[in-house]
Amino acid sequence: MKFGRHTLLWILGGVVLGALTGGTFPAAGGKVGFLGEVFLNFLTMLAVPLVVTSMIVGVTNLGDLRKLGRMGWQTIAYYMATTGISVAIGIILVNMIRPGEGLTAVAQGQVQRGEFSLAQVVVGFVPKNIFKAMAETKILPLIVFSLLFGGALSATGGRGRIVVEFFRGANEALMKLVGLVMYFAPLGVFGLVAERLGKAGGWEEFGPELGKVLNYSLTVLVGLTLHGVVVLPFILWAVGRRNVSSYASNLSPALATAFSTASSSATLPVTIECVVRRNEVSEEVAGFVLPLGATINMDGTALYEAVAAIFISQVYNIPLSPVQQIVVFITATLASIGAAGIPQAGLVTMVMVLKAVDLPLEGIAMLLSVDWFLDRFRTTVNVWGDSVGSAVLERLRSGEVEDEVS
Ligand code: ASP
Repeated sequence: MKFGRHTLLWILGGVVLGALTGGTFPAAGGKVGFLGEVFLNFLTMLAVPLVVTSMIVGVTNLGDLRKLGRMGWQTIAYYMATTGISVAIGIILVNMIRPGEGLTAVAQGQVQRGEFSLAQVVVGFVPKNIFKAMAETKILPLIVFSLLFGGALSATGGRGRIVVEFFRGANEALMKLVGLVMYFAPLGVFGLVAERLGKAGGWEEFGPELGKVLNYSLTVLVGLTLHGVVVLPFILWAVGRRNVSSYASNLSPALATAFSTASSSATLPVTIECVVRRNEVSEEVAGFVLPLGATINMDGTALYEAVAAIFISQVYNIPLSPVQQIVVFITATLASIGAAGIPQAGLVTMVMVLKAVDLPLEGIAMLLSVDWFLDRFRTTVNVWGDSVGSAVLERLRSGEVEDEVS
């Protein structure tokens, strides 16, 4: 099911109207929040089964396990490369703008002192119980299970065919549901944006909060804009060979959903719908690349983590040597891979970056009041990055198929 131009405009209108309502009448924002919750519930309801079915369909469509292996490595290499570019942009900007200079650290809230280590991330890949992972909307272990299961199904030959058909049918039905849910999206995004801005006290209260760390916020936003509007579109055009404006406009429902939910995982059903149905990327590529991207490819998050860490070093007047900045580069990349596709997950994994270069964790407190706001922008870039990735990997794969044929 394709939704027309009007639906797109309605969705974007919902975001704008939500910002106006919540910003001007914070109390009204709380009253319409239930609309957002209904939308979010629908999306999360679809995301879990969709990850399983789209991954299994993707993997079994690829057929040969060697092809899957090749695509897996290409996807991971591509994601790492684009995340690396994004972090580099952040590090260069924060060193140029130096938003933390002249600020004094003031604790503005409680810092979550969660432990976060790489070992934990790796253990988290393997589900102990797939139903528990589903119940807790843990996407990464579900991806691992679906990949293995899809691979095993391909290896069974004829016997597994009926199971593959089952998942294909289920996947199609779920996609139809996503199409239906999108009709509710304008109201949903309206409710989500209005409620969040209302909770922050509208423009009147949030404005001054933003003002306190304005330069930091601007550094993050300029970095995200450079990556999202210059780097990724260039890759889409040069490597993916796509018309950037039509690809982006077809994707706008997913981008607006990412902005209003601040969750790559909740947005996943809409991302798949826009990439497969509207931008005509094949199911086998999108089914594999997008769920993986929603959890491990977070260009926006990586950029923000690097900027935030170096900002904290500037505020506390702890200069970082070039080697330490390289450590920030590496750990911010890893922390973005480890962050779940849920609101403000980056804030938790940032502990890893700060610890790696011995920066005070208290520094995070300064960023808390604006984090929900920046989260929306970085999640939008995260989803855009995944979607550009699917066009690029589709192109690489079709190049290989052509080579095989000739
Ligand atoms: N909210 C982001 C996402 O879902 C993660 C983060 O940066 O906190 O993509």
